[in-house]
Amino acid sequence: MSRYTGAVCRLCRREGMKLYLKGDRCFSDRCAIAKRNYAPGQHGQSRKKVTEYGMQLREKQKVRRFYGINESQMVKYFNMADKMKGITGENLLKILESRLDNVVYRMGFGSSRAEARQLVTHGHFLLNGQKADIPSMILTVGDEISVKAKSRNSEKFKELIENHNGNTVSWVNVDLEQLKGTIIAEPTREDIDIPIEEHLIVELYSK
Ligand code: SF4
Repeated sequence: MSRYTGAVCRLCRREGMKLYLKGDRCFSDRCAIAKRNYAPGQHGQSRKKVTEYGMQLREKQKVRRFYGINESQMVKYFNMADKMKGITGENLLKILESRLDNVVYRMGFGSSRAEARQLVTHGHFLLNGQKADIPSMILTVGDEISVKAKSRNSEKFKELIENHNGNTVSWVNVDLEQLKGTIIAEPTREDIDIPIEEHLIVELYSK
């Protein structure tokens, strides 16, 4: 399945919740959810009965949209999660959190996951000192992500650091002076602040 290239605020309206896809705008009164919290399209404001399948599907789509991944990646991650020890739904979210683009976003080096992904693909980061330009790389405890020396003085990173609000996740240790971060623990379910009922996704893929 190809990547969605339409207006991303429509995705939030479709899911009826903020997916935080547009950086600072998501926290402002220009957010489309704040202005029009109903599904887009002609029948967007009509109430529909949601089936069990519909609920499972919506939950899966929310997660895909939060992390900006396509269906085949989602299936791949689900299969990985299913083979791991523990609760499959939680494993799935932990895998998604551990993607390189998400970790860069969680470090505050990107105002949205989409921006973090773009910075990764443009080759601004190193993983353990080596080139890392694949957003889907899965990181583990001990991995260090740093901004390339050549990129440190770019206007983009100056701006990102200037606007960095210091809010990062507890499982990544961020050093803003050195422009790097180290994964110090696996993310737990409590660390993953997205309002998702992941068991519905497991039910959907287990059919
Ligand atoms: Fe979603 Fe952000 Fe657009 Fe609001 S501004 S609708 S949270 S992408």
